Parts: sequence; C-alpha cells; structure tokens
Amino acid sequence: MTNKITGVNGPITGWLDGHTYLIGLMAYPIRHSMSPTMHNNAFAKLGLNYTYLCFEIGNDKLKGAVDAIRTLDMRGSNVSMPNKKEVIQYLDKLSPASEMCDAVNTIVNDHGVLTGYTTDGIGFVQSLKDEGIDIKGKVMTLTGAGGAATPIAVQSALDGAKEIRIFNIKDDKWAQAEKNVKTIQEKTDCQVSLTELTDQEAFKQSIAESDIYCDATSVGMKPLEDKTLVSDPSWFHEDMVVFDTVYAPRTTKLMQVAQKAGVKHVFDGIGMMIDQGAASFKLWTGKDMPTDYIREIMF
Ligand code: NAD
Repeated sequence: MTNKITGVNGPITGWLDGHTYLIGLMAYPIRHSMSPTMHNNAFAKLGLNYTYLCFEIGNDKLKGAVDAIRTLDMRGSNVSMPNKKEVIQYLDKLSPASEMCDAVNTIVNDHGVLTGYTTDGIGFVQSLKDEGIDIKGKVMTLTGAGGAATPIAVQSALDGAKEIRIFNIKDDKWAQAEKNVKTIQEKTDCQVSLTELTDQEAFKQSIAESDIYCDATSVGMKPLEDKTLVSDPSWFHEDMVVFDTVYAPRTTKLMQVAQKAGVKHVFDGIGMMIDQGAASFKLWTGKDMPTDYIREIMF
C-alpha cells in the first residue's frame, strides 16, 4: 500500500495529528530496534492515535530526555541499555518487579508522575501462558543473571514459581546473581539457589529435576551462535519446557539439542519479545496489543 501523504510504500503507522500521543524509546545505540515497527503497526491496526519513536540517548542526555517526557506530555517511553538502571533516579515511582530488578524498561507518564516498570519478565511468563503453561508451582533451572534473566527470575517468583535454580559463570554478572537470590528470598515464597555453572553435575541434575530450563545468557546468539550450555540431549526429558531467550537465530543450538531429545515444548525468544512489548503497550494505552497480527507481519 502506498501512503498518499509520504509516498512511502508500507502500512500507514497511525494517525498523526494534533492529538497524537508520543511514546519514545531511549537507548544507545538503538536504531536497529524492532520496537517502533511492532508498536506503530499495533497502533495502526487498532486505530489508536499514538506514535512510537526511537531517540538515541545515552546516560549523558538521560536526565534531559526524562524531563522532556513531562515537558512534552509524552505518554511514556521504553528505555534500554545503557539506561535501564540509570533512569531510576529520575522517576517518581517503581513497580514492585522493577524495584526488585533495580531496572526499568517502561515509563508511564500519568499527568507528570512517572512510574517505571519492567515488562521482560511479564513477557516471559505470558509467552509460556500463551502455550498453555503456567509458571505457578514450577521448578525452573535458569542460566543467566543479566538484563533478561533478572526480570525472568523475579517475575517467575512473583507469579508463584515453586523453585528457581540459577546457574551462572563467575563473571561481572555474579554479584547481580547473588542480589537476585537475596531479593527473591526476601520478597517472595519461591525457593531460590545460585550455583556456579562449572559445577556440571549439579547443573545436569538440576535440569533433570526441573519442569523448565530457561537459557537467558548470551550463549546461542552472535558471536556465540555455534555454542550451547547443554549439548547432550540426554540431559533433557520429553515433558519439560526448554526456553531459549535468544530470537536470532530462530533455532539456536540449544533448541536443536532439545528437539533431538524429543522435548515437547521448545521455545525461542520471539514470544517473550512480543509479550513484553504487549505489556508496555497495555500500560500506555489500556488496550491489548494484537499479538497474533504482530507475529504474522513481523516474524
Ligand atoms: P547481559 O549481558 O545482561 O547478560 C548476559 C548473561 O549471559 C550473564 O548472566 C552472563 O554471565 C552470561 N554469559 C555470557 N557469556 C557466557 C558464557 N560464555 N557462558 C555462560 N554464560 C555466559 O545480556 P542480556 O541482556 O541479559 O541478554 C541475554 C540474552 O537474552 C541474549 O541472548 C538476548 O538476546 C536475550 N534477550 C531476549 C529478550 C526477549 O525478549 N526474548 C529480551 C532481552 C534479552
């Protein structure tokens, strides 16, 4: 379809007029992001008078950018690296999950009051729910303690996971892993533990005893796309869930191993990505994102 106003080929992304609500994405670098395409097509599909724009903002310009949300009466913004922690000092309130993660990916502006949320964990739990799997009561082995793994652990614990066994290497994320364990122990009823990934016997046994294995590390994506933390299919059992947060490549090495093991529920990170966007979309607009449509046109 040709847009009569711009002459550009493609869907018209919303009605832009004097009443349009503006949503931002503040991160650096960020031009590669799929979020503008996802949100603008969802706004257009539902006929919502919103638009979503990327702003290349690092820590140095962050205070001014957050002030601008209030000044320009923007409806809100996403934030990504390097601003997820840094932004907290400029906000008025935090959601419980955001406070536990010490990170924000979504800001909502209610008449000048800015609230920070983190929707990645909501996206993870919802993407399982979309497949008929409830995190409640589940035992999960989780590798990772970074920007993706932290909200996954926190939201799963808040939503009633029975036990989360975290494994990580002793790198710069180890302290965050320890913090995640402490916070989950203090604020939820979920049992949680942390083990070094070098303890392969414990890792193997943990997966064997788990309902869900979730890999939320950078292993499996570029430049580690040829690697997997589990290479032996016998570590998995058929009835479990194997979830890789990576969404490019679409079928990671880990997923191949799980498929070889005959695991029934093998998921990539696309569902989580769409559902975290849908959670932010709902916070800004009060409407459900048309996620099936977004999946169909984008993936
Ligand atoms: P991060 O840098 O914050 O954390 C990376 C994690 O991987 C850390 O726990 C680190 O210790 C671990 N790690 C790194 N190299 C490793 C190795 N060689 N062996 C074992 N562990 C290793 O990154 P992040 O933002 O948390 O992203 C992690 C993954 O999650 C990426 O693959 C990313 O694509 C994915 N992700 C997916 C979504 C989604 O919506 N599906 C959202 C965010 C991130």
